[in-house]
Amino acid sequence: MKLITMKGVTKLYSKGEHEQRALDSVDLEIDEGKFVVILGPSGAGKSTLLNMIGGLDSPTSGTIIVDGQNIEALSRDELADYRASTVGFVFQSYNLVPTLTVLENVALVKDIAKNPLSSHDMLRAVGLEDHMKNFPSELSGGEQQMVVIARGLMSRPRILLMDEPFGALDAQTRAQLQTDLLNTWQKEKKTCFFITHDVDEAIILGQRCVIMSARPGRIKRIVDIDIPYPRTQETRLSPEFNRLKNEVWGEVYKEYLEVRK
Ligand code: ADP
Repeated sequence: MKLITMKGVTKLYSKGEHEQRALDSVDLEIDEGKFVVILGPSGAGKSTLLNMIGGLDSPTSGTIIVDGQNIEALSRDELADYRASTVGFVFQSYNLVPTLTVLENVALVKDIAKNPLSSHDMLRAVGLEDHMKNFPSELSGGEQQMVVIARGLMSRPRILLMDEPFGALDAQTRAQLQTDLLNTWQKEKKTCFFITHDVDEAIILGQRCVIMSARPGRIKRIVDIDIPYPRTQETRLSPEFNRLKNEVWGEVYKEYLEVRK
């Protein structure tokens, strides 16, 4: 079932006297439960696209239909409901409240979500039961990021929107969190929209890689990643992984060069 349909999505930002075309006529369909990864150079409009699906920004022209509803047509209250129940956000900066415990940070979602999960259950599900009473500063970067993912899942969203969530982590922690995220995704079957600059990460996680072109952002190519799950460290050594990595990297690299021109 199609959960997200974008048609002709264009975004213009005004820059002084000029208008800048951040996205140009983007068409994209995402089936429910899919793990979709977005790759492309800085400025390609990846975050703009994510924010639009999240109801935080709106297109200058074109439509975004989520679960049969045109997001543009929602009233303010309906949009607030949509943000609180249909989508969950996971960003790179942790945004945890330093004076609240891990449990209290996750429980904050209860104030806005319609039908939240239990904070204890959620933290248990992501392996953080031993840290519930700790403050964020007592956790490693990877553990803090898992708290953010747990918080993103608390409202039982159908769509998890992730903007470079592991960008600031070291390679080992990142690999561990990728595995944890995949385990959670396989259990919860959320639709994932995941932005990254890292081609290895895109291929280890995603079922589809959407490659954006340099400004103005357009969809340049979509590559299906037909590697079965669970994907492990051995997957990274397989010929299929490396074939896909070369294919995706070749496309992405051309766009990075465009930006530097
Ligand atoms: P990416 O996530 O691919 O790096 P963004 O979606 O953040 O790209 O930005 C796409 C383009 O739109 C960039 O050129 C950026 O400067 C511009 N842009 C994004 N948000 C705003 C804004 N709020 N006001 C003006 N320009 C913006």
